[in-house]
Amino acid sequence: WSRLEDNEPFIPGVPTKPEGASYYPANATRDEVAAWFDSLGEAERSEATSFFTTIRRDPSGAFRAVPYSVEYQGPLAIAAALLREAAALTTQPTLARYLELRAEAFLSNDYYASDVAWMELDASIEPTIGPYEVYEDEWFNYKAAFEAFVTIRDDASTEQLSRFGAELQDLEDHLPIDPAYRNPKLGTLAPIRVVNVVFTAGDANSGVQTAAFNLPNDERVVLENGSKRVMLKNVQEAKFSEVLKPISTIALARPAHRAISFEAFFTHILMHELMHGLGPHSIQVNGRPTTVREELKETYSTIEEAKADISGLWGLHYLIDKGVVDRALEQTIYPTFLASTFRSIRFGINEAHGRGVAIQLNTFLDAGAVTVNDDGTFSVEPVGIRKAVAGLAQRLMMIQARGDYEEAKAVIETLGVVRPEVQRVLDRLQRIPVDIHPRYTTAESLAARD
Ligand code: ZN
Repeated sequence: WSRLEDNEPFIPGVPTKPEGASYYPANATRDEVAAWFDSLGEAERSEATSFFTTIRRDPSGAFRAVPYSVEYQGPLAIAAALLREAAALTTQPTLARYLELRAEAFLSNDYYASDVAWMELDASIEPTIGPYEVYEDEWFNYKAAFEAFVTIRDDASTEQLSRFGAELQDLEDHLPIDPAYRNPKLGTLAPIRVVNVVFTAGDANSGVQTAAFNLPNDERVVLENGSKRVMLKNVQEAKFSEVLKPISTIALARPAHRAISFEAFFTHILMHELMHGLGPHSIQVNGRPTTVREELKETYSTIEEAKADISGLWGLHYLIDKGVVDRALEQTIYPTFLASTFRSIRFGINEAHGRGVAIQLNTFLDAGAVTVNDDGTFSVEPVGIRKAVAGLAQRLMMIQARGDYEEAKAVIETLGVVRPEVQRVLDRLQRIPVDIHPRYTTAESLAARD
């Protein structure tokens, strides 16, 4: 089934993809399974709804939970043996530890210790292997799918990131909002790693290629140890050269084509991730302590994604002025971002990222900071753009600071739309691929040697 085409089968005669994938008995309905979950006591229920069990029928026809370590015993035994072989080959202790503990988890079905070891991984090779994301389980989003990433840490970029990390409090102290809403003491930052992918498999290589992930998903681990964000740099490079660059030559006026830069694209993604941690999160509404997420309800994701983008641009320019980021980026960040807005809108404005960039693009158009040329291409107006960026960053963060649901809805309704001049560009992009399809040549040549 093609994940990029709404799970359409691509082999003749193949039936529709089951919504519960193969996690539940083929002859069961969602309602039956849901009713069974509800009938269970707390301990049994948590086993049945666990990431790491399938649901099967026992000989009497009743449902029961089967641990992955039993359900997938054969393949997991092979994988565990290979992980142990790899662990014996490395001289890096945290890597050996992760591989050993992961092998153990495959056999015991207890992933906790190996998730913690993954958080503590400090090695030149960063593997991520196991059952993680729950999107394949379209019935409940309970069951995790197996996947593997083998990546090499990019030390230069990771180092650049820690330099940005040191600027976060200063950025917070200068956010374009009322000082009363700034956070005088930011908490510690979740670790971020920049890596290059040499191999992916399973869930990680079945649909849209992952460009960044934030794991683990197990709340127990996250609560005690936090989570780790991993940026896949060479995947982003491929998306940049195969998708973003071709888009820019159609969507932007000719003089801007030379200003499209990977460094600007990647640095802005880093800033986007960092800016999620800045600005209002825990707030007071009429003296009542609450959170932005709670107050903004279904508008939260769109407003938060738009905030991270726009304040990422604001923050980059702030760091350019401060001398932390190269002045040359001043010429490239805005045109590169403009081309990237068309890339994101193509994923659909029903989704937070797409709708968030539509809000930004329309704000720029209304402010005259982005203009449409006679031939339908778009241009950045260098004089107006910085002010428009700061203005929207302020507007969105103040919506968050006040927990202003009505205003959030109004922004999304009026600005989170595709206008005709934008649609005309989208219509001209149809021949450009929506995503990349990688070939792992290093892995191929290693496999060919055996
Ligand atoms: Zn984001």
